[in-house]
Amino acid sequence: MENINKILDDIKLELSQHISAAEYMLWIDGLVPVNCTEDEIVVMAPSDNARASLEKNYIFTFLDAALKAGYKFRNVIFITEKEAEFFTKDVTEIMDTLKKKEEKKPNPFIARYTFENFVVGDSNKLAFVTAKTVAENPGNFNNFINLNPLFIYGGVGLGKTHLLHSIGNYIIENNPSLNVVYTPTERLTNEYFASLSKYSTDKDAYRNFREKYADADVLMLDDVQFLQKKGGLQDVIFHIFNDLYNKGKQIILSSDRPPKEINDIEDRLRSRFEGGIMTDIWTPGLDTRISIIMKKLEGNETKLSEDIIYYLAEKINTNIRELEGALTKVLMYCRLNGKTPTLELAKEALREKEEKESEGIDSNKIIAAVSEYFRIPENDIIGKKKNKEIVEARMIAIYLVYDLLNMPLINIGQVFGGRDHTTIIYSRDKILNQLGTNGKADKAIKDIKGMLDV
Ligand code: ADP
Ligand code: MG
Repeated sequence: MENINKILDDIKLELSQHISAAEYMLWIDGLVPVNCTEDEIVVMAPSDNARASLEKNYIFTFLDAALKAGYKFRNVIFITEKEAEFFTKDVTEIMDTLKKKEEKKPNPFIARYTFENFVVGDSNKLAFVTAKTVAENPGNFNNFINLNPLFIYGGVGLGKTHLLHSIGNYIIENNPSLNVVYTPTERLTNEYFASLSKYSTDKDAYRNFREKYADADVLMLDDVQFLQKKGGLQDVIFHIFNDLYNKGKQIILSSDRPPKEINDIEDRLRSRFEGGIMTDIWTPGLDTRISIIMKKLEGNETKLSEDIIYYLAEKINTNIRELEGALTKVLMYCRLNGKTPTLELAKEALREKEEKESEGIDSNKIIAAVSEYFRIPENDIIGKKKNKEIVEARMIAIYLVYDLLNMPLINIGQVFGGRDHTTIIYSRDKILNQLGTNGKADKAIKDIKGMLDV
């Protein structure tokens, strides 16, 4: 019970890696821990609506994430504040511990994202070695190579965040006096704009924001491809960056593409990003995928035979997040059926997923739903018209196709009248960046997902 805050935090972090940012902000972010026993956890949802949606759509996802974070709950109960008294003596007590915990500045890094747990192969060796070197000697200049800033890039689910957290965990362990600050770019953006909007009544808000980053000994900014050119944000980052750099502080950045391919950043910031060392991660080969599965199974009660491991590694060749997802699916499937895993069962577990995907939604259904919601003809949604309403609906449609279907960007471009994949990225990121800040778009996405029954 005393660890329940940490448990829910771990589960939230895990969930944030596996569901869309929109879903996370809508349903997960506001959850508060209430109580837990060995095999059941009770959490409080911020409203009746949220509770209903969580119960309907997220129980399995939540338990799945809990399992990945190392907690084997058999059940999760979502309650609202009214019901909390049945589950615990005092809600305010929980709130107090939550607050205290924040004051204590807990290790913000995911415990299992360590160098030890990172499987090294050809696809990520260079990134791994560089990250480790930086963790051992942050901010220092090597005689030959300048490792500041360290810029790690590579596609989604290939281990960038894992490496950043590994650096954080390593430094907290070996160099605890250093102030390591990690933030996803979206969070930094939200904090910045929130502090600006409070500026007239609360001058400290902006100062606190700036200090948090300017006081870092090591600053890690995850997913910088989401930086937007607006509201002076890049200006502030540029100055924080320069100050830190001049003081010999270490800066570490991650992105899904190299700096020269990030459209939305100012040139001076781009040249800062490129000024140290850049290292990329690519999709792992079969051997590495097999090693990854074996690593993930270490310490797991359930053992998988070689043929199952090989089957999984060969079948899932997109990224490591997918690979982990498939592995969990197989483990859960066997556990829920109370059976020892066999190749047959593994195939069954994944086949079930495939069927669901192909029977379920596709891009036509998404476009039809968007069309119905906005009352705009489907042809206009995929067409070239530039009226504001149509463009907005089109961007939401593009975002939903990206979010709900596992479709390469180039193919999404084809669905939307042969658009270039950079246009697709632009629309997707535009919506991603508005999530949680644009009530109209949030509502549209939620309602359309409801229409699609997802
Ligand atoms: P990214 O930030 O690049 O999208 P993540 O760091 O979130 O990817 O990685 C996705 C999942 O894959 C995480 O659970 C992570 O632990 C796991 N993972 C990625 N690379 C490795 C690796 N080399 N060894 C072990 N696990 C890995
Ligand atoms: Mg990441």
